[in-house]
Amino acid sequence: MSEGNHRTLTVLAGPTAVGKGTVSAYIRDHYPQVWFSVSATTRGPRPGEQDGVHYWFVSDEEFDSMVEHDQLLEWATVHNSHRYGTMRAKVEEALAAGRPVLLEIDLQGARQVRNAMPDSRLIFLAPPSWDELVRRLRGRGTESPEEQRQRLETAKEELAAEPEFDVTVTNDEVRRAAEEIVSLMGLDPAAHRD
Ligand code: 5GP
Repeated sequence: MSEGNHRTLTVLAGPTAVGKGTVSAYIRDHYPQVWFSVSATTRGPRPGEQDGVHYWFVSDEEFDSMVEHDQLLEWATVHNSHRYGTMRAKVEEALAAGRPVLLEIDLQGARQVRNAMPDSRLIFLAPPSWDELVRRLRGRGTESPEEQRQRLETAKEELAAEPEFDVTVTNDEVRRAAEEIVSLMGLDPAAHRD
């Protein structure tokens, strides 16, 4: 594959609670030409989540089988609980079709993609400041105090990984960050403004 084709694979990672989900949702809504990988996960669906849309919800046995048959481009156990992985064949199909591909995955997964596909572009989504990250994590209100403490510990380690990435985008404002990301993917944000 030429470098140009490899560059159509973009990985978006960053510390917990930085707002990856919100920025991704913005890109999904405004840039339908971007192909989002739907990951497989062993965690159960949250209210409103649909199989094949938000994730492919699979059993431990099914996940084991995907690992064994090398069907995952990368996979990781996230927050010491459930396993998540990117389905290799679907990504390859999208790349072959010339689609700009976006993977929103954790740091361990980003490292694996870098090793498997060195020409992919790794984007680190950073908070404007540490205090703002703490505020976003607390404000989300979905985790218990113990979970919050654990996630902040994880976030510290994740922030330290920033230099491993090709480029940092600061999530100071969702639309601005999303536009910077799609520009890096070779799309023209001006063509999509409301
Ligand atoms: P959640 O359970 O809140 O949907 O996601 C938890 C974390 O799993 C997020 O940080 C997300 O980036 C990560 N994640 C989702 N899918 C994948 C995947 O396919 N591979 C890896 N390595 N991480 C993933």
